Amino acid sequence: MKTLFILLDGVGDRPSQILNGLTPLQAARIPFLNALARDGSNGLMDPFSPGIPVGSDTGHLSILGYDPYKYYPGRGPFEALGAGIKLKPGDVAFRCNLATVNDENRVVDRRAGRISSEEAAELVESLLEVKEVDGVEILLKHTVEHRCVLVLRNGVSDKVSDVDPHKDDVDLLWPRPIDSSREAVRTSEVLTKLLKRYRMILEKNPINVRRREKGLQPANMLLPRGAGKMPELPSLSSRYGLKSAVVAGAALYKGVCSAVGMDVVEAPGATGTLNTDLNSKIKTAFGALKSYDFIFLHIKGADTAAHDKDPLTKASFLERVDAALKKNFEPPSDEFIVCITGDHTTSSLTGEHRGDPVPVLIWGHGVRVDSVNRFNEVDAARGAIGRIRGLDLMNILMDLMNRTEKFGE
Ligand code: ZN
Ligand code: ZN
Repeated sequence: MKTLFILLDGVGDRPSQILNGLTPLQAARIPFLNALARDGSNGLMDPFSPGIPVGSDTGHLSILGYDPYKYYPGRGPFEALGAGIKLKPGDVAFRCNLATVNDENRVVDRRAGRISSEEAAELVESLLEVKEVDGVEILLKHTVEHRCVLVLRNGVSDKVSDVDPHKDDVDLLWPRPIDSSREAVRTSEVLTKLLKRYRMILEKNPINVRRREKGLQPANMLLPRGAGKMPELPSLSSRYGLKSAVVAGAALYKGVCSAVGMDVVEAPGATGTLNTDLNSKIKTAFGALKSYDFIFLHIKGADTAAHDKDPLTKASFLERVDAALKKNFEPPSDEFIVCITGDHTTSSLTGEHRGDPVPVLIWGHGVRVDSVNRFNEVDAARGAIGRIRGLDLMNILMDLMNRTEKFGE
């Protein structure tokens, strides 16, 4: 048995006026996904718990069967892992944004006008001249668009507060120790010094000079958040004897998946943004099923469009996913299951993750066929899967693959 797990990031949504009171999934023309729903089992899933919005990181952990209360180390370590940084024991990793701040250190735009990956990569490159601060080794790596990863190594603590205030038009928050340990105090001091040096380097960078001339926001500050050390996660192969891999564009998802022991299979043209090469990703995922039992395919665009409060773009992105799936759908054998769901709802009204459940669809060998014939948040509620928690999903899939152990005699 082989399983393809397609995770459409932020796929759930709320009704929009511009879509005549429908959600993007309801409004989109997605005949292929609807056909899978018609011939499969459907339901709703609370990625963590009803009404509790999750981040992509906690959502993924939960859906992969790892209780975030037990295993979540903060966003930084997963992001670092996904960016290809090998974390050593004791390393503290942060997720960072390149951002625009004014002279009073007020955050004007925490994504620096959604700066391009090319410009952001060059700006981050210029920061690499800072290799250490007061004996603490500094590793920095750009990932996608305004995002990068910072790792502090040598006698540091993850008990340090977020610098990113998580919204615009407020003061940036200088790092503070969260406990009274010497390491936490030292880490916040080192981080403060580092950020001030970064600020000086970024202000002078020709890219920012040019951006100012063009009336664009300069990316003149780095905003770290989500400090954490990597936890030990029991692997999927130790839990289920599964040979698994991930196909994803963005760093975080490769990170979460490799933390649970999945291999990373690269798809050419996978960017983790709206302009990703969907055909390439889906083709790569099906190709990889020849050598793996379980492929986790992550597709980001729907979430990005919803964060931009753009339900129309979200719907048309979902239509592109549908077309690319139809074009490249090549089950490796008859004994094949596909599961399609999301990691959370992202409201294109508020631009934020919300706690509404997401549709879950399972199609293929041995799957009960229910009476639902469309893939969306409302029709799914009538399906045979009912309403499940994210933590249950892997067990349900592994059961269909006949890989779960009997409980009792
Ligand atoms: Zn997400
Ligand atoms: Zn999101």
